[in-house]
Amino acid sequence: MTTPPVVGIDLGTTFSLAAFVENGRPVVVRDAAGAALVPSCISLHDDGTVLVGSAAKERALSDPRHTIFSVKRLMGRTLADLKKELELIPHQIVERETADGRKVLHVAIGGREWTPEELSALILKEVRKRAGNPTRAVVTVPAYFGDSQRQATRDAGRIAGLDVLRIVNEPTAAALAYGLDRRGSGTVAVYDLGGGTFDCSVLSLAEGVFKVLATNGDTYLGGDDFDRLLMHVAVKDMGVDLAARDAELLQHLRDAAERTKIALSANERATFTISLSGGLRPPLAYSRDFTRAEFEELIRPLIDRSLERCRAALRDASLTPAQVDEVVLVGGSTRIPYVRKRVGEFFGKTPHTGLNPDEVVALGAAVQADILTSGRRDMLLLDVVPLSLGIETLGGVVDKLIHRNTTVPARASTRYTTGIDNQTAILLNIYQGERELTKDCRFLGTFKLSGIPPMPAQFAQVDVTFLVNQDGILTVSAKELRSGAQAQVTVQPAHGLTTAEVDRLVNDSIENAQEDFTARRLIELRNKAETDLRATDKLLAQAGDKLPPAQRDAIVKSGAALRSAVSGTDLATLQAALNAHVSTTNPLATLVMNEVVNKRFGGTNAENLDADEV
Ligand code: ADP
Ligand code: MG
Repeated sequence: MTTPPVVGIDLGTTFSLAAFVENGRPVVVRDAAGAALVPSCISLHDDGTVLVGSAAKERALSDPRHTIFSVKRLMGRTLADLKKELELIPHQIVERETADGRKVLHVAIGGREWTPEELSALILKEVRKRAGNPTRAVVTVPAYFGDSQRQATRDAGRIAGLDVLRIVNEPTAAALAYGLDRRGSGTVAVYDLGGGTFDCSVLSLAEGVFKVLATNGDTYLGGDDFDRLLMHVAVKDMGVDLAARDAELLQHLRDAAERTKIALSANERATFTISLSGGLRPPLAYSRDFTRAEFEELIRPLIDRSLERCRAALRDASLTPAQVDEVVLVGGSTRIPYVRKRVGEFFGKTPHTGLNPDEVVALGAAVQADILTSGRRDMLLLDVVPLSLGIETLGGVVDKLIHRNTTVPARASTRYTTGIDNQTAILLNIYQGERELTKDCRFLGTFKLSGIPPMPAQFAQVDVTFLVNQDGILTVSAKELRSGAQAQVTVQPAHGLTTAEVDRLVNDSIENAQEDFTARRLIELRNKAETDLRATDKLLAQAGDKLPPAQRDAIVKSGAALRSAVSGTDLATLQAALNAHVSTTNPLATLVMNEVVNKRFGGTNAENLDADEV
């Protein structure tokens, strides 16, 4: 395909894909076989092999220790955030403290440790490659992602070699994709239930302006949780111990659970089966029928929870469910009939399912990418901050500067003063969340304004400004008015990567493991090809005239093909040319060898000799 100038990428927990605008319409990027979805799955091996997408997913069952899923759940997280999940992740997850006191999450897999940003970058790279390696992209995130999760996503994009023009909220993108065909006005609710996250957004549409009124969600609610509920029933039945973190068993359980769940979307009854044998383990076979009603009963509390979030978003938008004109369903888990039923009942109307729920987010991201780069002005997107941002004040209380659901870009200022005589610096702790106390909010980082000239207490006047950009990412700046001292930072997440670290990763060769591996193979093969070509020239000079002309011609031809493959960069072509050349030169090699043998030993044939005799 020709490389589009800019793409929209849906970086999903389970699947990722890209789309771009062609002739005014968004289309998804497909591979030669017509598949658009790239499983967000990576397989990493000690020898440096990196597989991403279907190839990695295929290995998940046979080689779970080297395969990782759902990396999105780790983005911008701390180890403490992940307590619930750890028992189901068959990899070692550690938090490494950096010299400056940040805690950075690492996953140990394939003989090294990876940050979630690096792993997500591998997925982004694969998606990017399929689109013909564009350099600019709009990447989507769940609307309910906080600052650190957005920054982690942006960093992953940079590591993957992408200039991330904008981070867009997934439900907003979905509405954009739908709105394209309608251009009407009204209120739209987007219910997005994917593999790992749930989002609900309420938007108003009017003459091409998409304004997000409110958003809410749960970054720990999705189809993976439904799988887990089925798994837990099975695990209890089987009496196995999950604490043992048996990677193979876990992977088989997860796979069986997902298959059962998906079967229950189409059928009233499905069988959960698992059968493991071989290796050192005692054989294990288990089978159990689930009815759709049973499954619905299991997931009901989670669906209730998602609808609570919808209610909260509507409350923030000062709307009742009945005032919503249209409901849009996004995400693979909205294929579950029970989910559709409950959402329909909640809003009192049948949800839209016109666009493929797997593709709608990427399509919307492509529309946004096009709006940003083509200068078209018929559409405008006004998104919001999902969670309030504030500063810690006395007694661990959060003073909120920017409230949730404020349209971005958003700016707010507040004035502080110094508390003691001759205080030359002021330190601010920044938090994100809805609760009143810092201990219940997420600590984003510390901001320091130094260089305040010594003054009596209460004399300095420090204006602190929060600016949330279109990506939902916060920058804090402060200025002391009397002295003019000022400082500005993008709040460095207390547990994310610094800009310098991201820069290093961008250049890090391990980051390019796949390319490195290919490059190494290419060099090895080229060397081998060149040695072979030199040897052939020598043999031809020595004994070429003794060969039948047809064989000679074949050698010359395969040699020329090999020479041209050596100057190219395609591994498969080179390997094929080398194989072909080796087989055409075989008769010549045998001929020469036999001559040598005859000369030296008179009559024995070449097969009986060690190679180094020749
Ligand atoms: P994400 O955006 O988080 O990657 P997706 O929107 O791709 O997620 O949805 C993936 C989730 O949808 C998975 O949990 C998958 O099991 C679930 N899913 C896909 N198809 C079905 C189906 N027919 N019935 C129930 N769940 C499904
Ligand atoms: Mg999704």
